[in-house]
Amino acid sequence: MPDCTHLDQIRVTSLPEPIDGCEECLAIGSRWVHLRMCTSCGKIGCCDSSPNRHASRHARDDGHPIARSAEPGEDWIWCYVDEVGSAVEAGAEA
Ligand SMILES: [Zn+2]
Ligand SMILES: [Zn+2]
Ligand SMILES: [Zn+2]
Repeated sequence: MPDCTHLDQIRVTSLPEPIDGCEECLAIGSRWVHLRMCTSCGKIGCCDSSPNRHASRHARDDGHPIARSAEPGEDWIWCYVDEVGSAVEAGAEA
């Protein structure tokens, strides 16, 4: 992830178990398409294909730049500031 300067803000890489869904969507009774997890605080939010885009909104509002996929079998991360993605490095999940 050579173009991202925020890798030092990653605090959480392992997903919670179980994941109930987007926290904000559950609170307002909305729906989501895919789930993302903030790697700064572990908040679960919904992707930009979802109506409310809570993950990117959280990144902007709280200044937490990097989220990872919370979808089964997906382990990539995405920086909302730099708009670059990467695979989670091997071993980072432990
Ligand atoms: Zn970045
Ligand atoms: Zn949501
Ligand atoms: Zn966060």
